[in-house]
Amino acid sequence: MSIAAVIVAAGRGTRAGGEVPKQYALIGGEAVLWRTVQAFRSAPGVTAVVVVVHPDDIDLYRRSVPTGAENVLPPVVGGATRQQSVRAGLEALEGHAPGIALIHDAARPFIDGATIAAVAAAVSEGRGAICAVPLADTLKRAGPGGTIAATVDRAGLWAAHTPQGFRFAEILAAHRRAASEGRSDFTDDAAVAEWAGLAVALVPGTSANFKITTAEDLARARRIVAEEQHVQTRTTAVEPRTGTGFDVHRFAPGSSVWLCGVEIPHDARLEGHSDADVGLHALTDAILGALGDGDIGQHFPPSDPQWKGAASRVFVADAARRVGERGGRITNVDVTLLCEAPRIGPHRDAMRQAIAGMLGIDAGRVGVKATTTESLGFTGRREGIAAMASATLLLPA
Ligand code: MG
Repeated sequence: MSIAAVIVAAGRGTRAGGEVPKQYALIGGEAVLWRTVQAFRSAPGVTAVVVVVHPDDIDLYRRSVPTGAENVLPPVVGGATRQQSVRAGLEALEGHAPGIALIHDAARPFIDGATIAAVAAAVSEGRGAICAVPLADTLKRAGPGGTIAATVDRAGLWAAHTPQGFRFAEILAAHRRAASEGRSDFTDDAAVAEWAGLAVALVPGTSANFKITTAEDLARARRIVAEEQHVQTRTTAVEPRTGTGFDVHRFAPGSSVWLCGVEIPHDARLEGHSDADVGLHALTDAILGALGDGDIGQHFPPSDPQWKGAASRVFVADAARRVGERGGRITNVDVTLLCEAPRIGPHRDAMRQAIAGMLGIDAGRVGVKATTTESLGFTGRREGIAAMASATLLLPA
């Protein structure tokens, strides 16, 4: 069952201090929100992530989440309450019609893949399910003058965390009904579901999935990330790897070419089994070359009908996945297109953004260049387009 995630980032809380709402604060050099989004886009089965933002925070969002990041939909503007914001996020997913919707607070960046999977699995069994932890502290009700009025029995009490997961159609219907009946006081989605008569299960989470609310929480988050990074550099020597790729496709009658993930109107198309995106093929081979892991033809044989007409971004994303599986990261890639036409300059930034999205890296780490060959050779005779690429990775030594 396909899974989509709604990340709620529309709050403007600045209790954590600083100039910006806490979900945009930097931890380990990245926005809290981006860390949260990455946890979901890398979780098994999640095919779409949408972030709900405050209308004043669009610029902050753009600075925090790379444009074109794979599986991340354009941000949605939220409403005056959390409930309205979640509903806006769910409405934005209607066209995708996911089987399961997971709703999560942007300010919980330490959510782990196992917990996300456990909540999704519980929903697959036909109920709603929320991540929650049993209360550990003894509870007191405060009375007048700061004295204790009562000790509250904590048996059976859980603190509700997120993600909270539901059948998409059911939670969207529940939110719509709550809105149409003027109910705007629900503080989480489980409460909306309970009100709508849906059963909701408790899935045990961990205290690591805390919500960044105060300056203390933010400091704790930064300590955790600093420790992670320290452990990584202390225990893992890294080695740089470089790979190169080269590819050629010939022109055939047509009206557009795909180059580096961008379709460009032209007086010909490129011929090939897939979309013949020569730039992305060279790039895929560069990454595979740096890994020492074969080449594009080996992993995606042209004899296999499933790749007929395939979007070549699939090949690039697969190569990037192989880097991730080896515990590595891509530090930069560079593509050169060799052709007399079409002109590449006007499309260069769109190509860089497209590639950055496929690789999950910043566009600043992507180079796209073009050159003619002075009318010499097959590219000069406009018989086809050639592309070369390089990729540099860091892999655990
Ligand atoms: Mg090719």
